[in-house]
Amino acid sequence: MPLLVMKFGGTSVATLDRIRRAAKRVGVEVAKGYDVIVIVSAMAGETNKLVGLVNETSPLFDAREYDSIVSSGENVTAGLMALTLQEMDVPARSWQGWQVPLRTTDTHAAARITEIPTDNINAKFAEGMQVAVVAGFQGIGPDGRVTTLGRGGSDTTAVAFAAAFGAERCDIYTDVDGVYTTDPRICDKARKLDKIAFEEMLELASLGAKVLQTRSVELAMRYNVKLRVLSSFEEQSDEAGTLVCDEEEIMELNVVSGVAYSRDEAKMTLISVADRPGIAAAIFGPLADAGVNVDMIVQNIAEEGRTDMTFSCPTDQVKRAEKAMMDAKSTGAINFNDIVADEGVAKISVVGIGMRSHAGVAAKMFKVLSDEGVNIKVITTSEIKISVLIDRKYMELAVQALHDAFELEKSA
Ligand code: ADP
Ligand code: ASP
Ligand code: MG
Repeated sequence: MPLLVMKFGGTSVATLDRIRRAAKRVGVEVAKGYDVIVIVSAMAGETNKLVGLVNETSPLFDAREYDSIVSSGENVTAGLMALTLQEMDVPARSWQGWQVPLRTTDTHAAARITEIPTDNINAKFAEGMQVAVVAGFQGIGPDGRVTTLGRGGSDTTAVAFAAAFGAERCDIYTDVDGVYTTDPRICDKARKLDKIAFEEMLELASLGAKVLQTRSVELAMRYNVKLRVLSSFEEQSDEAGTLVCDEEEIMELNVVSGVAYSRDEAKMTLISVADRPGIAAAIFGPLADAGVNVDMIVQNIAEEGRTDMTFSCPTDQVKRAEKAMMDAKSTGAINFNDIVADEGVAKISVVGIGMRSHAGVAAKMFKVLSDEGVNIKVITTSEIKISVLIDRKYMELAVQALHDAFELEKSA
């Protein structure tokens, strides 16, 4: 039997009525002769609620307990989806991650998938089951404990299942009808893309466009999974949505194809650290050990052997970062006068494969922001992207101004 993976995000399973609508879509594919693996997220808002409970109970929580709590939302929707399908006379059953078992590394709260055995689920397909409903976002670590794959991780569960089972396609059903030039919720001129190259999608995702989790794009690229993003609210058609594909499949490449933003960034500065060989390792080693995801780094010019070191990280890791730095200071590993956290910043990035062969994108980006009176705090670049850190209050304005300046509402 040909096989499809269909993933439904939080808003697509937010109510019993929406679960029924999603199940009907699954039923359509089953009627066409497909076996289907359905990956579900928790109902919209559920995971945030669970994360809130964890933080309230224990701000510097034990990540193993965090995982056992926040993974529970998906268990509910997996069971409800299986029951809904059974009510429609479609033979279905649910699996939690550990039952598959979807094996992961032991990096709790940010685990990576290491293995998905197919025998267990395939045996049920052979017995006549037509839909396997799998709880997304969760797995089991080497220590036998439940793990989660990081926020948005159900996308990665879906692509990994598509790769493991050799699915014909992996369809990601969400609350927008595809991948846009920027988040359609903050820029009404955003344009839906029919196709986007893996590499561009990878950058957009890692820079904040949460429509796909970064790891899911990486996996799709590595295992050549046919990946489509589409709406679970609109009419079904074979051409719907956005196809994430190889660069070669796209006729015209834009210099800039998208603008991404990440709202929850913080800028931290260590004031007056000794400028000596090994200082960066002495700072960023303990931060990594504490599980802080450092993104941008700037070391200022030293004066009299002392310098300021600035880095950015997600806002919810500021406390961890501060603790790691104070601990390192107390052991004498580093010395600084003060640590200052600016939690009111956002990161804006422009992305495009065409940048490889076009100069001037950075200059244009900086000019657009300066014309809007937006001050740039930190800059980083790579081959196909430019990112800046700015005050969060200018985030929407900056995204819209850049979208206009690079004429993204027009197709190439
Ligand atoms: P789900 O719950 O289905 O996984 P998410 O909220 O994780 O959905 O992702 C979908 C959201 O991603 C959209 O509602 C949209 O606001 C946001 N988004 C950000 N950037 C983009 C983009 N470039 N294209 C489409 N959606 C985007
Ligand atoms: N429910 C999880 C989250 O909200 C995983 C997912 O939806 O992909 O992050
Ligand atoms: Mg998501």
